[in-house]
Amino acid sequence: MKALVKKAKGKGQIELMDTPVPKVQEGYALLHIMAAGICGSDLKIYNDDHPYFPPVILGHEFSGEVVEVGPKVKGWEKGERVVSEVHGLVCGRCRFCLSGEKHVCPSKRALGWGIDGGFAEYVSVPAWLLHRIPEGVSYEEAALLEPMAIVVHGILERAKVEPEDIVVVLGCGPLGLIALQVAKSEGASRVIITGVNQDEKLRLREAKELGTDRTINVEKEDPLMIVKEMTGGIGADLVVELSGSPTAISQGLRMVRTHGRFLAIGIPVEQEVSIPWREIIFKAPSIIFHFSSCYSSWERGLSLLERKKVNVKSLISKILPLKDWEEGFALAKSGEAIKVLFKP
Ligand SMILES: [Zn+2]
Ligand SMILES: [Zn+2]
Repeated sequence: MKALVKKAKGKGQIELMDTPVPKVQEGYALLHIMAAGICGSDLKIYNDDHPYFPPVILGHEFSGEVVEVGPKVKGWEKGERVVSEVHGLVCGRCRFCLSGEKHVCPSKRALGWGIDGGFAEYVSVPAWLLHRIPEGVSYEEAALLEPMAIVVHGILERAKVEPEDIVVVLGCGPLGLIALQVAKSEGASRVIITGVNQDEKLRLREAKELGTDRTINVEKEDPLMIVKEMTGGIGADLVVELSGSPTAISQGLRMVRTHGRFLAIGIPVEQEVSIPWREIIFKAPSIIFHFSSCYSSWERGLSLLERKKVNVKSLISKILPLKDWEEGFALAKSGEAIKVLFKP
């Protein structure tokens, strides 16, 4: 089968290669990939700015059809439409695995960087990672479930958006455009979203279409002033940081109200980020660091899609065959697209 492989450590080192169809082991299911999305972390792996274990097939956001189930797999059959969580390799013995928090297992190696992922015709995954795609949700939409589950876990399960919250979303990539909808659908009264010049043409415009109350281009306007004005000087109830930008992180902490919540999801390239510690300490907000997603957030995400509470269809800008991966990566990087999918 054709697969997009990160061959070795270093910049680039990605090639479309012929690899064998994975053998289906006990407890595993073989999926025929129907759609797979390019994520910011795939671009970081291209640039050598993210962990990975080469040689490895990239791609951790995908949907597929079950074509074979391994021995001892119960409850799954050929022909089912599924998505898969990504923590394909975990130890199963640490306190996190044993308390149902496998997604933060210190030995985790996830699909698409730690073990072979979904930029291929087939992928073999442990059956316990699978979730059924509801009727009425397409394979293309379902391919966005992985980023969606991260946002759902963060906003609904950890930072817990509350009725009539004023929410600021920092960053208007796919995660930001999903976050604004999740916050709105589950109680936020107003959602403000930020972007940069590059986002004006497409992403900030889409944010308006999707129901954001105010878009801010931080290169042209002062986000601190605007949030202050829109909240009567009090600050936002919840700030969701998705940009990974040190400036945005620092500003976001200054935007949050006294006893508000700051949810940190974006991953900076920098090891250290400076924040206005003294200013923040007197406001005593909850700072919630957030990584990955868990079983319940995938189910909640699928339910939101099934009930049409979140529109991911309009985030899909382009669908390409795997052979055009270079065009896909360039598009994803350019800001000319929101989400680019492969159809291997
Ligand atoms: Zn991703
Ligand atoms: Zn573990």
